[in-house]
Amino acid sequence: MRHFDLCIVGTGSGNSIVDDRFDHLAVALVEMGTFGGTCLNVGCIPSKMLVHSADLAASTIHATRLGVDLDFRGVRWREIRDRIFGRIDPMAADGRGYRQRSDNVTVFDARARFVGPRELDVGAAETIAGDRLVIALRHFEQLGEHEMADVLGCPPGTVKSRLARAMARLREQLASMSEEVGR
Ligand SMILES: Cc1cc2nc3c(=O)[nH]c(=O)nc-3n(C[C@H](O)[C@H](O)[C@H](O)COP(=O)(O)OP(=O)(O)OC[C@H]3O[C@@H](n4cnc5c(N)ncnc54)[C@H](O)[C@@H]3O)c2cc1C
Repeated sequence: MRHFDLCIVGTGSGNSIVDDRFDHLAVALVEMGTFGGTCLNVGCIPSKMLVHSADLAASTIHATRLGVDLDFRGVRWREIRDRIFGRIDPMAADGRGYRQRSDNVTVFDARARFVGPRELDVGAAETIAGDRLVIALRHFEQLGEHEMADVLGCPPGTVKSRLARAMARLREQLASMSEEVGR
């Protein structure tokens, strides 16, 4: 079993954790989808680029109210798509390449799944272990009980009760913080 000082699951916010302060550590980055995560590949960035094109198209309507007549002649979807992903896809590939070339980071293109304490199955019959693990998946809390249990390698009932307790504690802390702020 390969051992790492730090194992990070997810390369969205997970990828941004690793900087030169980690140069002396052996780091594993595990990603089952496109390197860079949701924000870069399907979320914040492409959506804003789409919205900008949509705003330009809609501006022909708003402009009329301001006394400016503009003609809307159509939308070239392929060009819009290719412009967006022609910029984003190389960023994802460059990010992955940069990490792969780095001396202390190992990239695993795999779905991570806990198989023991601090041990992750990363496909191709490989298991890795880490002193510290980061699960950098914002959607994790939204996963179904079974899917979450599958990633964690736990029986579903356990996950639900632990998560419910953690969420209840978080809610209590937030409530007391907002009381403090209100005072
Ligand atoms: C359409 C859209 C627009 C958005 N716009 C904004 C915005 O304008 N501003 C904003 O602040 N936020 C926005 N968001 C939200 C933002 O994208 C997310 O909050 C953010 O990407 C979450 O980052 P993360 O690192 O937690 O997870 P992610 O970026 O989702 O990264 C998790 C990664 O982990 C991988 N993964 C999951 N499970 C496993 C596993 N078991 N093993 C290995 N890899 C795994 C996934 O493939 C994914 O790449 C938007 C989201 C969407 C969908």
